[in-house]
Amino acid sequence: MTENLQLSIGENILGVKERIARAKEKSPHGNEVTLIAVSKTHPAEAIRAAYEAGLRHFGENRVQEWESKREALQDLGGATWHLIGHLQSNKSTRAAKFFHAIDSVDDFALAQRLDNAHEEFAPRKLRVLIEVHIAGEASKSGAPVDSLPELLRKSSGLSHLEIAGLMCIPPFLEEAAEVRPYFRKLRELRTELSDLLKMELPVLSMGMSHDFEVAIEEGATEVRVGTAIFGTRDVK
Ligand SMILES: *Cc1c(COP(=O)(O)O)cnc(C)c1O
Repeated sequence: MTENLQLSIGENILGVKERIARAKEKSPHGNEVTLIAVSKTHPAEAIRAAYEAGLRHFGENRVQEWESKREALQDLGGATWHLIGHLQSNKSTRAAKFFHAIDSVDDFALAQRLDNAHEEFAPRKLRVLIEVHIAGEASKSGAPVDSLPELLRKSSGLSHLEIAGLMCIPPFLEEAAEVRPYFRKLRELRTELSDLLKMELPVLSMGMSHDFEVAIEEGATEVRVGTAIFGTRDVK
């Protein structure tokens, strides 16, 4: 690992942690916030640098990309690997095997496939978040809001999954504060659904590099941060 990479990633992480701490002070919700380092397009050695700097949660958005890196990182104990991108059902078996958490489940057929695939790892459950289509037509992925009660109720009956909460990707808006209504809506949905279904949904995964402070002010328990930790991504 080059020393420069270690240094710059370490500094970036310190900066992000400070921003998280300040946002927590402003937040009326008072919850803990887990920082998930989103390492897509970045090499295994960048992930290792973030691990050395103390991070333990990592997010990748493609199964295949993670399969190509994980060999080189087998020795990193105690890390949690999240799949945060859209999952095609034909990759669900590999996803259940190579990730600890699938943060982007958006329909019941996919939940069922993950449940089946994860059976061999019982009694350890696969942590799942339901990705919510929060912004109407402006975004592509996620379960429609009106499908959520049914989807959550049915998925919570799957014995190898732990349905931990909700995730969203709001539209990208230059002005981070304009994203606030979407974060607020996800929080309110969480309250409504957990009351309705008598289900604890402790996790709200929302907020990325340019808007995670706003998300924390609205109650995010997990933020997914790529660029602010690893630098800009090369667009292929
Ligand atoms: C890439 C990605 C992120 C991180 O985005 P940054 O703007 O680089 O922080 C977060 N969540 C999801 C689902 C992503 O695909």
